[in-house]
Amino acid sequence: MDLKKIFESKRPCFSLEIFPPKDYQGGVETIYETLDGLKAVRPEFISCTYGAGGNLADSSTIEICSIIKEKYGILPISHLTCVNNSKENIDVILEQLKANGIMNILALRGDLKPGQEPQKDFAHASDLISYIKEKEPGFFISGACYPEGHPDSGDLITDVLDLKKKVECGAEHLISQLFFNNEDFYRFRDRCELAGINVPIEAGIMPVTSKQSILRMVSMCGASIPAKLSKILNRFEDKPKALEEACIAYAIDQMIDLISNEVDGIHLYTMNKPYIAHRIFEVIDPMRE
Ligand code: FAD
Repeated sequence: MDLKKIFESKRPCFSLEIFPPKDYQGGVETIYETLDGLKAVRPEFISCTYGAGGNLADSSTIEICSIIKEKYGILPISHLTCVNNSKENIDVILEQLKANGIMNILALRGDLKPGQEPQKDFAHASDLISYIKEKEPGFFISGACYPEGHPDSGDLITDVLDLKKKVECGAEHLISQLFFNNEDFYRFRDRCELAGINVPIEAGIMPVTSKQSILRMVSMCGASIPAKLSKILNRFEDKPKALEEACIAYAIDQMIDLISNEVDGIHLYTMNKPYIAHRIFEVIDPMRE
């Protein structure tokens, strides 16, 4: 199944994101456990994150994408960052992806690390996208987008105009950063429409599992926490099961509203937790018909 066909169908896409486990080099067992659990959710695709370190020796993302494709028969999307990768490195990775039949890439800049000089070959995701499209037009390229604006963007207009460049360079599908207030997403969708961005945009949803981890996450990505969620986090921070249940309900509520508002797709940041994906899928799946 290719992504173009999935979005032509008009049924909201349901996709998942996983990351290579920290102990991946020690064995692939934990990722099999995660994928065994996620398979039943029947996602349209599973994407796998890629470190921003530019370490060619770490091929875990490509290996996991191959497993998603070969063992589970699910379309994989390989994330690929360029901030610390040279053109030579990117060439090697593109060859490895092609050799494994992985033709879908989420092309990203990656976060700039304070005190670390980035590589000079690619300043932005759009440079990577142009490079891949010129080298190998057969790749289907997705890009990242930010309903509340990327933290480096001066303002929301600049942000959407930069996003438009990304699409003009060849991004055919966008996946959003996590957000907790759907109104932010709808305003962003309106800005995209005004800017003439007309590729499918999937909404990134992350079910919260701990107060500390979500506070760390939003401090890095710039997403805001609405009062309703903040109260949930404060009320249940010391009751993990109650917090999990409340936050699954919060994520489901967001998704029902998104589907009612004709979202192109929902991209679930699974945090490699199949149980939560299941709980959400059971409620959401009948609503996609
Ligand atoms: P860009 O599109 O390059 O944007 C970065 C900034 O530069 C923005 O402020 C933008 O407005 C500006 N900009 C963009 N293009 C131009 C231009 N042509 N001229 C001037 N300014 C421009 N990180 C990882 O390390 N690994 C992952 O696997 C990963 N997966 C992600 C998945 C999703 C869905 C999302 C939303 C983010 C992910 N990230 C990942 C984080 C991402 O790498 C960071 O958010 C990073 O800071 C920006 O990446 P980008 O591709 O959006 O960058």
